Amino acid sequence: MKALVFNGPRDIRYESYDDPKLEVANGVILKVEKCSICGSDLHMYHGDNIGSADYGAGVEKFCVGHEFIGEVVEVGANAHGFKTGDKVLAAGGTGCGQCDACKTGRAASCRHSTAFGLSAGLNGGQAELVQIPNADQCLMKIPEGVSDEQAILLTDGMATAAFGIGNSGLVAGQTIAIVGLGPIGLIGVELALLKGASQVFAIDPVPERRVHAAALGATVLAPGKEAIGTVLEATGGGVDCVFEASGAKAAVDSVIPMVRRGGTISFIGLPQHDVTLPMMMLIYKNITVRAGIAPVPQLWSALVPLVQAGRLKAEGLFSHHMSMSDGAEAYRMFDAREDGVVKILMEVG
Ligand SMILES: [Zn+2]
Ligand SMILES: [Zn+2]
Repeated sequence: MKALVFNGPRDIRYESYDDPKLEVANGVILKVEKCSICGSDLHMYHGDNIGSADYGAGVEKFCVGHEFIGEVVEVGANAHGFKTGDKVLAAGGTGCGQCDACKTGRAASCRHSTAFGLSAGLNGGQAELVQIPNADQCLMKIPEGVSDEQAILLTDGMATAAFGIGNSGLVAGQTIAIVGLGPIGLIGVELALLKGASQVFAIDPVPERRVHAAALGATVLAPGKEAIGTVLEATGGGVDCVFEASGAKAAVDSVIPMVRRGGTISFIGLPQHDVTLPMMMLIYKNITVRAGIAPVPQLWSALVPLVQAGRLKAEGLFSHHMSMSDGAEAYRMFDAREDGVVKILMEVG
């Protein structure tokens, strides 16, 4: 098959890779139809770290990508929820399928939990074919009334945004700052307004992203000291909640001055080793911090009805449509933030 294969930092190639074989009885093989690049893929692309993996150190070649939809073409004996021909979306990652966490639907808390497309141990779906272990837990048939673009966003972005907004503790009438307006931050703006936020401050250095957030109803700001001052003044001492959706050091450093005493900060952006939190400020401001990786399938039951009812749209996030065969260029351009790129949808085959 053809796939986008990690050959080293800034070296993703569209090339041949062995077809996946169905190795686990609870798995299926998926023929991928559409896939997308995620901001978190850029850590790997840069040769940085994701968890304990060091992508600058030389790793075995693997197929990248954890955001994809497709058709089931082979079903293992212990995968009961799917048959060949089903059109499905896959959660961005999965667990071992055997432990207590996995068996009770909390695969994100499994010790062996990992995203697709980070190593040859669980190849990704920027590929013509991909093996999905634990299919009953990490696949969903694409529901009625959910577009292909929304289905791809349900693999990660929408779920991660919902997890992050949920962790922020936001309730109706409160204020929130959303830092980082990639697709997850922008979906976060929509969700915060759906939850009844009285004011959403949306902060990002990229002007096009601020325009998008403003159209959704947010008060937009470019990052910096002035933005913090504006937030403090408008709220009389800080927002109730912060959703940090970038993971960049400057963004993380900006959030504690912005939150009120007793407020809550929710982190979902993937950090590098130099990103740390100032404990004294957290303690003396009585700040609650929540962080983590979204348990994607657990969020689907709340998100799908919102999408079907047209209340959560997540529109206009796929700024670019390309073929997977142009994947090397797609990564380059996504990384360079060229041409106002927000998210790239790639057609397979
Ligand atoms: Zn993702
Ligand atoms: Zn497990």
